[in-house]
Amino acid sequence: MNILVLNCGSSSLKYQLIDSETENVLAIGLCERIGIDGRLKHEPTGKDKFVSEAPLPDHTVAVQAVIDALLDADHGVIKSMTEINAVGHRVVHGGEFFSSSVIITDEVKDAIDKCAELAPLHNPANLIGINACEKLMPGVPQVAVFDTAFHQTMPEKAYLYAIPYKYYEKYKIRKYGFHGTSHKYVSRVCASMMDTPIEELKIITCHLGNGGSICAVRNGVSVDTSMGFTPLDGIAMGTRSGSIDPAVVLYLMQKENLSPAEMDTILNKESGVLGISGVSSDFRDIESAGNEGNERAAIALDTFSYRVAKTIGEYVSTMKGVDAIVFTAGLGENGAITRQVICDYLRYLGIHLDSYKNCIRGKAVEITTKQSRVQVFVIPTNEELVIARDTKELVFK
Ligand code: ADP
Repeated sequence: MNILVLNCGSSSLKYQLIDSETENVLAIGLCERIGIDGRLKHEPTGKDKFVSEAPLPDHTVAVQAVIDALLDADHGVIKSMTEINAVGHRVVHGGEFFSSSVIITDEVKDAIDKCAELAPLHNPANLIGINACEKLMPGVPQVAVFDTAFHQTMPEKAYLYAIPYKYYEKYKIRKYGFHGTSHKYVSRVCASMMDTPIEELKIITCHLGNGGSICAVRNGVSVDTSMGFTPLDGIAMGTRSGSIDPAVVLYLMQKENLSPAEMDTILNKESGVLGISGVSSDFRDIESAGNEGNERAAIALDTFSYRVAKTIGEYVSTMKGVDAIVFTAGLGENGAITRQVICDYLRYLGIHLDSYKNCIRGKAVEITTKQSRVQVFVIPTNEELVIARDTKELVFK
């Protein structure tokens, strides 16, 4: 059974075709600049890459272009549409409606639409992708896998903000958390690497990419996470501020006469390590600038690592302990120096990094020594695989 995994953004569409029996990726690709001009990059396993500049005026044309690429005589990987047995969609926001993945029905689409106010950049694009697939692949089952679902197990004390309760009732303002698919996946791989049932473990997972979030996973479920009502909350990120005193927002808006949209741009696109360093949002650039003596780049990295370590400390205290810490995503998987700096803060937990293992790349590995009281792992995330597994489970069980 082949599952097409789709991640639709407002002007992009990432895809993978996965054989759900072997879990092999048959093809991977990306449509970019949808609605602008259009570009499709298609990488079939074992065959040459293919790039098309044919126009992609909307998502329906983009999904059709993906299907055409998958079926193509030269760079395709399947012979007929019947070899796409189901579609799994990454959907960013499931609000309080969804605590697990679901088969898509009209009611599910209505609920995703209701959550669009909470994720105005993502949910509408996800829905457009779902509708395009319904049109082009009628009868093929579709599944929605939500970024927020894993965190629906958080207790009230973790998800409620200390603002008047009526705003929770009226607008559902609360912490939702994101990157749930990734936190769930790496926490499970971690438990299996520890050869211990996840129900017996306290794990802190650090998804550190352009966007970053940390999650406290106790007995296999999310009990707290650093992103909140939106993905702006929590640790400092590439371009996002993370948590700041909310009064700063009001003060800046008054002082600089900023509209809500302008303030939003500052917090989401001009802040984080880019904002502090003035160099880049990419941690590789900031590391090099810091090494070359750029002081603000060094401060940006320090601020970032400090806040990650501080958040880990919070979760150690709220979970009353920790058995393992996991690093994942672009920076978490590749940033050996950043991991070292973060773990230096955590020595009080009895963490001892193995500096040789900390430099191993591209595979799941424990990076602590045998003496370490808390095990630390680097585990490459694989959200597409989780989407394919959930889709298989729901459609073919
Ligand atoms: P996204 O949130 O966009 O999915 P990724 O998980 O792909 O992000 O992570 C991208 C980030 O990972 C880059 O911005 C970069 O800062 C960081 N990164 C990637 N490779 C390295 C590396 N070798 N060293 C340090 N940082 C890295």
